[in-house]
Amino acid sequence: MLLSLPLSMLNRVGKQTEQALKKLGLEKVEDLLFYFPFRYEDYSQRKLIKDIQAGDNISLKGVIEMIQNKRSLKQKKRLTEAIISDNTGLIKAIWFNQSFITQNLKVGDEISLAGKVAESYGQLSLISPQYEKISHLDNINTQGLVPVYHLNSGLSQKQLRFLIAQVLDAREQLTEWLPAAIIKNLNLMELQQAIKELHFPSSWDNIQKARLRLGFSELFVRQLRSQLIKFQLKSRTAHIIEFQELLTKSFVKSLPFQLTKGQKQAAWEIIQDIGKNKPMSRLLEGDVGSGKTVVAAMALLNVAANKKQATLMAPTEILAWQHYQNIIKLLEKFNLKIGLLSANKIEANFSLNKNKQKAKEEILTQAEIIIGTHALIQNYQIKDLALSIVDEQHRFGVKQRQKLQQSGGELTPHFLSMTATPIPRSLALSIYGDLDLSLIKEMPAGRKAVISKIISEEKRAEAYQFLRQEIQKGGQAFVICPLIDESDKLGVRSATAEFKRLKNETFSDFQIGLIHGRLKSQEKEKAMQEFAEGKTQILIATAVVEVGVDVPNANLMLIEGAERFGLSQLHQFRGRIGRGQAQAYCLLLTSQDEKSADAAQRLQALTKYHDGLSIAQMDLKLRGAGDLYGLAQSGFPELKIASLFDYELIKKAKEEAEKIINQSPDLKLFPLLQAKIITEEKNEAHLE
Ligand code: ADP
Ligand code: MG
Repeated sequence: MLLSLPLSMLNRVGKQTEQALKKLGLEKVEDLLFYFPFRYEDYSQRKLIKDIQAGDNISLKGVIEMIQNKRSLKQKKRLTEAIISDNTGLIKAIWFNQSFITQNLKVGDEISLAGKVAESYGQLSLISPQYEKISHLDNINTQGLVPVYHLNSGLSQKQLRFLIAQVLDAREQLTEWLPAAIIKNLNLMELQQAIKELHFPSSWDNIQKARLRLGFSELFVRQLRSQLIKFQLKSRTAHIIEFQELLTKSFVKSLPFQLTKGQKQAAWEIIQDIGKNKPMSRLLEGDVGSGKTVVAAMALLNVAANKKQATLMAPTEILAWQHYQNIIKLLEKFNLKIGLLSANKIEANFSLNKNKQKAKEEILTQAEIIIGTHALIQNYQIKDLALSIVDEQHRFGVKQRQKLQQSGGELTPHFLSMTATPIPRSLALSIYGDLDLSLIKEMPAGRKAVISKIISEEKRAEAYQFLRQEIQKGGQAFVICPLIDESDKLGVRSATAEFKRLKNETFSDFQIGLIHGRLKSQEKEKAMQEFAEGKTQILIATAVVEVGVDVPNANLMLIEGAERFGLSQLHQFRGRIGRGQAQAYCLLLTSQDEKSADAAQRLQALTKYHDGLSIAQMDLKLRGAGDLYGLAQSGFPELKIASLFDYELIKKAKEEAEKIINQSPDLKLFPLLQAKIITEEKNEAHLE
């Protein structure tokens, strides 16, 4: 089976399954091989029925003696009951609302079952166990360590396991690209084996080894790419931006607040760097709300005063547009030409040609400061580009950085990237192998921590009452919903439905806005603008407000279905409020389902901790060692397995990458590594 074979060619993949797979980013055999489970069910304890005890998590083999559908009188639930025997005894299995099971399982079938044993009235039974018929195939669902994958609604665990089992042999076509010396030195598992062990492990120990191997290779590739850039940059020259002391001082004076120590320090480091003819590569890290934008503005001002150009790039249109507004305001008195370039909007604070194409040209050639989405700006040639600033770095890949280096004509632009991803200094230095680091540690003075509370469904009315009072005092509120539209998922609130409900019922006396990812960009801007100007008091939003948005007067946030979001994401949401003078409150509403106990424990971390780093560490701890860190949460899409907090592994990856680059700075001696890096770059481009 070819690695590139489309999944639609596989057994049991029809149109619908194909679509569902595609939504997970799975299109060909190779994608499936690299779609790893995030945890495992441990059914390695296969038991005889006579030895089973209540509370055990077990797997057993037996024959169906009886099976039938019933209706429970009390709860009006439909249930399916089966009696299973295995020569040592009998046990009952019960499933709820799954009457189709009697179509699949018949008396006399040999089956394998796995699940938790419960006891009622002295009788043992398995409640909703996993089941599968014993067949010539391995029993991949009920035996040993069973993989559990992140899924969407069109797919089941069983289906995915079946598909992965089907393609597993294709791993033999994968080449081991890690140099043999590294594998040997670090005693790493080989690629093919690691893939097999992650999907269908033979032991916990091997899962760990496989994760170690794949985690290491992710970090190693990342390091290698950073080191390559660093090496290439060594020989480049950059514009010298002379420090405009008076101008900078007058800017600082014009601010309505005092800069924090961290802001001053960071600004100074940047100004010194761009004063040299070697391109700066610097990362500015500071928690949400620490005030990175002002620091960026100081650098932009200095470049403009040197009659050169600078760009400020953001991951989303809303954020680019907000930066545009903010920077114009911040630098108002300096008479600079500032332009906005985004897919849907071209604007400038100086007059532009009506023709869109011409207007764009004018911005590219005349504006001193060009703000926009990086998706767009990175594709332009900007002749006098001396500085590129990227907000929210983790969405900005190494590939784009390389492109950037080539965009400024003869000279390489200085590069500054800003991020709120909470990683400690030592770690940041080794993760971004090639970047120097400026860290803003403290929050602006007088900033009060956001008071966060977990609110159960019964207290919803009280929560609304509280919002009402606070809004009447002049506050503004975000209401964050997990979904855009209503769905059949019970109890999950959607932005559009909440908008209607709050507007027509609960808060009919307030002005309410709505913003979500499917709105046109003008509509999004309008909603943001009206909220920023205080025309609306409440803004209903989906996760689009996650990064960057700055509305200082907003001091309230109500998050629906809070347990559905990752802790770090919630921290990002919460960072949108508490930026002004008023005390800010974040209300975390949780819905009532079986998962909420776990979730509540996780959410507690938000009520206790207020800095991103503690929250990320707490998150990791609560997930437990067995769980993977997860794509979205790590903030580094290319790290699927490696954890940002695995200091040792990161250090090793860095050391090994340095050794390689020292031996062969262009990787000519390591053709497999070279090929691997080219593939990674292609994948990255593919993600854009
Ligand atoms: P982030 O670091 O998350 O990008 P911003 O740059 O958006 O943070 O700043 C958050 C808010 O704090 C803004 O409203 C900004 O005007 C304000 N701010 C920035 N620096 C200070 C300071 N030193 N003192 C008080 N407020 C500040
Ligand atoms: Mg920001």
